[in-house]
Formats: sequence, structure tokens, C-alpha cells
Amino acid sequence: MVDRRKTRNVAVGRIFIGGGAPISVQTMWKRPLNSVQDALDGMHRLEDIGCELLRFSVPDMESAEILGQIASQSELPLVADIHFDHRLALRCLDFPVAKIRINPGNIGGMGKVEELIRKASAKAVPLRIGVNAGSLPKALRQEKNVAEAMVKAAEEELSILEKLNFHQVIFSLKASHIDTTIEANLLFSQAYDYPLHVGVTEAGPLVQGTVKNTLALSRLLENGVGDTIRVSLSDSPENEIMAGRSILQSLGIRNFGVDLISCPTCGRTVFDVTGFLDKVHRYMERINKNITVAIMGCPVNGPGEAKRADLGVTGSENQVIFFKKGKIIRRESADDAIEAFREELEKF
Ligand code: SF4
Repeated sequence: MVDRRKTRNVAVGRIFIGGGAPISVQTMWKRPLNSVQDALDGMHRLEDIGCELLRFSVPDMESAEILGQIASQSELPLVADIHFDHRLALRCLDFPVAKIRINPGNIGGMGKVEELIRKASAKAVPLRIGVNAGSLPKALRQEKNVAEAMVKAAEEELSILEKLNFHQVIFSLKASHIDTTIEANLLFSQAYDYPLHVGVTEAGPLVQGTVKNTLALSRLLENGVGDTIRVSLSDSPENEIMAGRSILQSLGIRNFGVDLISCPTCGRTVFDVTGFLDKVHRYMERINKNITVAIMGCPVNGPGEAKRADLGVTGSENQVIFFKKGKIIRRESADDAIEAFREELEKF
């Protein structure tokens, strides 16, 4: 069991970040914010598969108004992501948003920062300060050690907020390079107790991005560093959530329910494991039960794995055999196997 670094506890809507709260999994809305219904539908899908915090870019006042309508109809904590224009942040604070992502150092002076902090304090809305290796302040861009420069950038932002005695802050220090991301977060966490949102940014498409994030996150989380995660991918927010949950579950940090074992398939496969998984995978994501499920393709390794699982399915000649806690409970044709699988899963 990893000893997590002690951080401040920050309330973000209905969840907490830091202070020993469960490490939350978040993602970002990936389209322009121009339809309330589209966003509400997408949000419900994401919440269904375990999204705990959802961030929206707010580039203009129209987006702020739409975010306001969505936030008023949502219990899922929503984050407004704003750059440069503090008026957008002030408008978002009129709505029940859970957090504002903004960097005080780039909104144009202390007067605007004070105005923002006054309103955020009054509404009990925290800020996320995001330092990105690709957009460091000019004075830090020539520094040899990028991770150290990122920490300095975070410190500049922090000094502004500490002058105003505002501490409801979550930091992120992100780079597209794994080692830089790890080094920056370890350095920051050694010096400060603010909660950290961790992940590799601009990590790439599904496979490459998941691998990069897994490597960085496992090293950080095993060092007790990280209070909320986002697996940034050039892919869907659904896959970001599923990858994030899978990383936390595989590291034994959180338990989200079904632990899935499935055979990779080979020339012996007599059951369409991949097609079956495609049809039941999303359904299993919604099952909040601490059980092991095995989906296997042939009688060679299938029965052994399926027997060890709480619920196991293995192909065998022209039928699919179901095991429950080591015992055969039913045999079905491939066509009926999906419905039978759902029925058996429901019984848990
Ligand atoms: S369980 Fe059977 S089908 Fe699946 S990979 Fe192993 S040998 Fe191949």
C-alpha cells in the first residue's frame, strides 16, 4: 500500500481533491460548447462510465453562458477552463461550476486577480493553476532544466495567490515528455502541500498516449504523488476515463468493480472473444461490483481461467460454457451468450 503524500483537502463540487480523498478521474469535453443538449447527453454518458470531473474550454462569453446552463442541470462537477480573460471566469462564477482553471499570472494585473479571488472565495470555488512545459513564461523559456522552470512558473502563480491569502488551489505541472512530467511533479510535491492534478499532456493517440500516461502516472502514484488524474489522449473522453480508471485499478489504488481477464485470441479460438467483449464491455463498466470476470476463447486455457473467476465464460466447440465461482452453471449458443452473460452479471 502506497503512503500518499499529505496534501490540502480542496472541495470541488460534490467531490474532494487532496487530503486523502480518493484519486479522482477526469477528462475534458472535446467539442466547441454550442449545444446544451449535446453536452448534457455526453456528460451523462461520461458519468455513467465513471467520469468524476469534467472540464470545458470557455473561450468566449457564449460558451460561458452555455456552461452556466449545463452546470445548473448537472451534479457532475464541472470545470471552466479559461485563459487570459478574467471576465469569463467572473461570469462562470455566477453559475454552479465546481472549479475554474485559470492562471492569475496571465490575466492582466493584480486588480483583475483580486476581483477574481474575491468572487471565487465568496462562492467557495477553487482554482486550478496549470503549468504547461509548452507555454512557460518568457523569462523561463531558456532555462536548461524544464522541470525546474515549470516549478518556478508554478511558484510565481502561487506567490500571487498567497499574497491574497487564497489557498483553495490545485496545481498541475504537465509536459508531453514523461521524465519532465515526473520530475516537475516530484519537485513541486517535495516543496508544497497543494493537491496535484497529474498526467502527461499531448500524449498522443490511444495506445501511445495510454502507455506514456501509464508510465508517468505509475511512477508518480507509487511515490504517493497525485490527487486527481487525466489521461490526455487524441481520442475520445470516454477512452480517457476508461484508461484512467484502468490505471488506478491496475495499481491497486482504487477499485472500480469488475476486474476483467480476457484471452488475446489465437488460432485455437472457437468463440468470438473480441466481438463478445465489444458488446459487453461498456455494460461491465457500469457494474460497480468487486468481482473478477474471465472471457476466454477455447477449451485449452479457457476453463482454468473461467473457473478461477467469479463469472467465467469460455468457448468450447459450438457452445459457450458459463462458470460461476468454479462451477459450470449453463451452456449457451454463441447467439444467446450475451443475454445470458448480462443475466448472470446482474445476479451479483
Ligand atoms: S485461451 Fe485459447 S484461444 Fe485464447 S489465447 Fe489461449 S489458447 Fe488461444
